[in-house]
Amino acid sequence: MTLATGRPPRTPGNRSGYFTVVDPSTGEVFDEAPDRRPEELDAVVDRAHAAWHDWRADPVARKAALLAAADAVDAAAAALAPLLTREQGKPLTESHAEVARAAARLRYFAELDTGTQPIADGRPVHSRLRWRPIGPVAAIVPWNFPLQLASAKFAPALAAGNTIVLKPSPFTPLATRMLGSVLAGALPEGVLTIVTGREPLGARLASHPGIRHVSFTGSAATGRAVAAGAAATLARVTLELGGNDAALLLDDVDVEEIADRLFWAAFRNCGQVCMAVKRVYAPARLYARVVEALAHRANTTAVGSGLDPASRIGPVNNAPQLARVEHHTARALADGGRAVAGGHRLDRPGYFFAPTILADVPADSPVVTEEQFGPVLPVLPYDSLDEAVRAANDTGFGLGGSVWATDLDRAAAVADRLECGTAWINHHGELSLAQPFAGAKDSGVGVAGGPWGLYGNLGPFVVHRPREA
Ligand code: NAD
Repeated sequence: MTLATGRPPRTPGNRSGYFTVVDPSTGEVFDEAPDRRPEELDAVVDRAHAAWHDWRADPVARKAALLAAADAVDAAAAALAPLLTREQGKPLTESHAEVARAAARLRYFAELDTGTQPIADGRPVHSRLRWRPIGPVAAIVPWNFPLQLASAKFAPALAAGNTIVLKPSPFTPLATRMLGSVLAGALPEGVLTIVTGREPLGARLASHPGIRHVSFTGSAATGRAVAAGAAATLARVTLELGGNDAALLLDDVDVEEIADRLFWAAFRNCGQVCMAVKRVYAPARLYARVVEALAHRANTTAVGSGLDPASRIGPVNNAPQLARVEHHTARALADGGRAVAGGHRLDRPGYFFAPTILADVPADSPVVTEEQFGPVLPVLPYDSLDEAVRAANDTGFGLGGSVWATDLDRAAAVADRLECGTAWINHHGELSLAQPFAGAKDSGVGVAGGPWGLYGNLGPFVVHRPREA
């Protein structure tokens, strides 16, 4: 047998300089990754600086390299996707979609051009604005979409003409390392460096004096620490943080017609999606039908190893996250909630939790007020629409939200009242590469996605010169 990495199997242990990686579908260690020490970052960032001089100088070569990199990612999908599933847990089809998205993102940003813009203010000078690269970028990424979120950082940073040092989560370092090797075939040396390791590696990277932009995706608590670290060097920060998205069903909704989409908006990637539906608000008249429709799907969806083609939902990614999901669920049940589907771990090896639909949960239970980030969905009844909108907005987060209805104009009017960065009607979670992606409130700082994501990696440079006589 060979592993998806192409290497023969071996038994990783506590080898000095390495940390172990667990397969969440078995709970067993299956590989290891280099445990880089914080002080090693000095040489890495120095190399990123050295590589920056040539990389920023030639936009034509840069575009060609990024397009070649996209092709290389597509060509490596058959190796990348199973390794991603092995360490992350998600079904193989979702891993393939993640790899394809990484390649698409490279192509999207390679084609963007900010150009040079005149500034016309009536004064007798020619003022021209150009956007210039700012220097080495640090990227810090979580474990739920390792490749997709890595590409959301390196594609715009590299297209802007910056170099980048990227740190994946210690729970999912392997596919990102493989992606780094694939990209190394298309990019000049030092332009993109993947560093793996445990804390305080991320903290050091976020506060390294050679870094000009820290682009972080993860929890709000870590985001605050990252922003504090970057304050020491006055590096720019972009923070994509957590969410507690509400789905608001209106009283004309066709429950059966939307139930599949609503269910998967909550349970895709085992619910470990920043902009998953994490709370459903249903009109009291339809409450029982909504609960029943979701519970039916939760009870009949195949849960298992992501490498098994029959599985639609994989395991939770890691033991601390599973403990968090269990804790929130147990508390909701103790608070008077009912598990209409699931409500417990599955009695098998690995980090499996039964897809769970909770009814009758009090609005102040942590599974409603906090981001539980797992395969658990509370459904709450409401009597008046104003009350439902207030409840949907009653959270420190503001990433996304959705309204589900038959009358689309009425749904759009309700969507306008949601305090979040993206609102959907009759679906939830889909993002265009060309749209700005930003959270309101505690869900983030700065903008990723589309041209705004590119500008986030650039600085304005203005030249004034007198008009010719
Ligand atoms: P996390 O905050 O625990 O870790 C994220 C990354 O930060 C990891 O690479 C981790 O090793 C690193 N890290 C940990 N401590 C650090 C420190 N002191 N300084 C610098 N880096 C440090 O998050 P997680 O548990 O890996 O991911 C789940 C969270 O990510 C959820 O809150 C989820 O909503 C959020 N998320 C947000 C988005 C978004 O785009 N808004 C997307 C995906 C996930």
